[in-house]
Parts: sequence; C-alpha cells; structure tokens
Amino acid sequence: MKAFEVVPVRAFSDNYIWTLRDGERAAVVDPGDARPVIEYLDREGLSLVAIVNTHHHADHVGGNAELLKRWRVPVFGPKDPRIPEVTRALGDGDRITLPHFDIDFEVMEIPGHTRTHIAFYGGGMLFCGDTLFAAGCGRLFEGTPQQMHDSLTRLAQVPDSTRVYCGHEYTLSNIKFAKAAEPGNRALPDLEARAAAQRELDQPTLPSTIGQEKASNPFLRVREPEIVANASRYAAKELHDPVSVLAAIRDWKNNFK
Ligand SMILES: [Zn+2]
Repeated sequence: MKAFEVVPVRAFSDNYIWTLRDGERAAVVDPGDARPVIEYLDREGLSLVAIVNTHHHADHVGGNAELLKRWRVPVFGPKDPRIPEVTRALGDGDRITLPHFDIDFEVMEIPGHTRTHIAFYGGGMLFCGDTLFAAGCGRLFEGTPQQMHDSLTRLAQVPDSTRVYCGHEYTLSNIKFAKAAEPGNRALPDLEARAAAQRELDQPTLPSTIGQEKASNPFLRVREPEIVANASRYAAKELHDPVSVLAAIRDWKNNFK
C-alpha cells in the first residue's frame, strides 16, 4: 500500500464522493456527478485510475460515463445490469486490488437499501455506500428488514478502528432520531456536539468508525432494552426479536420529524 489520503468531494446537496489520492493519481467511490470530480482532479493535477461503485442509484453512479470519456479506467461494482459501465462485476468474498494504490479490498454483499448493494473493506477502511450511515442506515428500497439486519450485523464485525466512509452527510439528523430511540445512550450528546461543531465549520462529520457506530447507531443496537422498549411503543405491540425492532425503528425514522 502506498501513502494516500481520502478526501470527500461534495456532490448534490449531501453526497460525498470519497476520493483516494496521492500526489499524482486518484480513485473515486460512487461518483454520482462527474463535474465536481473533474474540477477537483484538474485543480489538483491528478489523473483517475479507477471508479468504485457500491450500488446502482443515480446519485452514486451518474458520473461514471462522463468520467470514462476522459479516463479509460476499470469500474468495480456489483453484478447489476443497472450499472452498465461496470467492467469488473463483483460478488461476496471477491477481492480486488485498487490499481496504483495497491490497496486490497474484500467485497461484501450487503443487501437491504438495494438488492445488489456491496461494500468494499480493506486497508482499515469500509466504503459502505447507503447501507450504514453515521448513527443511521439506508432506507429499505429493495430489501427486507431481515436483509438489512444481516448486512449491518456483518459490517459491525470488522474491527472497531475501521474508518467508515458513508455516502451522505446525514449525521446530525440521524443523531436526533437516535436520541429519541435511545434517550439513555450517553454517547449521543457528545457525538451530537462534535458533529454540530464540524457542520458549523462546514466540515464533514465522516468518516465514522465501527466502534463509534456500535456505541451510537440504533440500527446496530436493536438488542438494547431501551431501544426494544421504544420500538415496541412505536409499533404498539411487544417486539421480541432484533429484526422486528429494526423494522419498527426504520419505519419510525421514516416518519420522524
Ligand atoms: Zn442509494
């Protein structure tokens, strides 16, 4: 592995296009829009070596075609015809080496937000698209609560120090909901204060870490008695299993103001 840094290139209102770069080259994760990527690479004098896609949503892959017109690079992504630009279609357990950077990533299939969503894990980093967010998780557009629970459980098994690069800046609103779901969680006020200070300075609140998520994210804490109790209150029935709790708090959050 060579020395590199990971910088967020902003797109749309709250997407981050995570960009691995050194002094010469860059690889981008989920370029929903080509324009800010091209602007960043031109400004920094970098050339693109690879595109990585976690799932097919337009705000994650919409810039692929435009970037490929300028740089003929491999596109690593899920096995899904809805991303026609993918040159290397990946499934669970596949391993790739990111060109130039020599970072080895393991691919994990993490359905829930979409049916074919994948994550890239390696080098102490996790690129998880719209499945795991800081203090939250993605909406269940194509998957079931069971799938999302299994996917999140799997992501939570990587080391606590793993840096979590999520696709959106949703942290503050997620923490607001997390406090409603688990008011007794004493990690949340500190996290909220830190995130608010970062946003005040227009800085990203990401990456998070798996350790931080295990301590704060209600969707990873569906066995906590306080969350089970509040989910049961929301569902107006006693919930006993983690999948039902996850389903209830996901629905609750969809309606949370
Ligand atoms: Zn998405």
